[in-house]
Amino acid sequence: MVSLVNIFCYNTLKFLEGYFKTMQLLDGKSLADRVQENVIREVGVLKQSRNIVPGLAVILIGDDPASHAYVKMKAKACEKVGFYSITHHMPESISQEEIIATIEMMNTNPRIDGILVQLPLPKHIDSDAILEVINPKKDVDGFHPYNVGRLVTGLDAFVACTPLGVMKLFDTYNIELQGKDVCVVGASNIVGKPMASLLLNANATVTITHIFTQDLKAHTLAADIVIVGVGVPGLIKADMVKEGAIVIDIGINRLENGSLAGDVDFAAVSPKCSYITPVPGGVGPMTIAMLLENTLKSAKKRA
Ligand code: NAD
Repeated sequence: MVSLVNIFCYNTLKFLEGYFKTMQLLDGKSLADRVQENVIREVGVLKQSRNIVPGLAVILIGDDPASHAYVKMKAKACEKVGFYSITHHMPESISQEEIIATIEMMNTNPRIDGILVQLPLPKHIDSDAILEVINPKKDVDGFHPYNVGRLVTGLDAFVACTPLGVMKLFDTYNIELQGKDVCVVGASNIVGKPMASLLLNANATVTITHIFTQDLKAHTLAADIVIVGVGVPGLIKADMVKEGAIVIDIGINRLENGSLAGDVDFAAVSPKCSYITPVPGGVGPMTIAMLLENTLKSAKKRA
């Protein structure tokens, strides 16, 4: 009996050893904590040397619970690092003109360095028109066409926080991008497209795939790095990634049982990877950390 237990324990340990030897988690949670500590230090210096407190204005429309949760997390993070922050919460029925008037007020408010409009907006609001009203110098979400254009041309810009957070993970874990084949799954304006631009600027060979891609597996299987942000739980399966691949999971999906899941079938895919991000605790915390960095960057320009 004892020997059976021993064999079981030994085999389990061997399995775990093999598991951890080949795969390393990209720990976005602890990296985000380190970024926050650095922002706290820099806020202290700005306050002391220039009497400047970075300020963030968030515009939240309607009662979508996920949007409320995200805005709450952002406000909490601002408070933690010593930013000034205000949330303009407006009803679902608000008119486009009223939202524009609020943004214009924030554009000229000297205490505000960053403005973000929590997406998605109600159907009667033209999101593109709203995002274009934000002063590009306060566009800490990096969604304004001015900043998107500067990113694509490789100029200094405010860059969308989620892809910027992924780049910070690559940098921190010394993951080389030059010459690598990277497959980006998902091509939205806030995730896939800016991600692809950043990778191209880092000299990677980038393939962008989306809902109309004919053979997704052929593209992901050929890639050294797979980055997925689509909103389909478990879309990326073990047979879709090559041995030793790096897999970045941007997806955040609330399952019926209330738990969070990414777009990658983590249990099946992770043993094949050299690096992988967990969900939660991977890209998510980095997004908020990059929002803090972008707001700090804007406040430094004010200084
Ligand atoms: P979106 O709906 O705007 O875009 C989804 C993209 O995925 C589209 O380009 C679509 O063509 C593609 N797509 C959808 N189904 C596909 C499929 N079966 N195969 C291939 N491509 C497919 O969504 P979004 O705003 O870009 O968000 C995507 C996901 O990323 C969501 O789960 C969202 O919650 C998550 N997200 C996470 C963070 C974070 O901080 N980690 C930030 C933003 C978005």
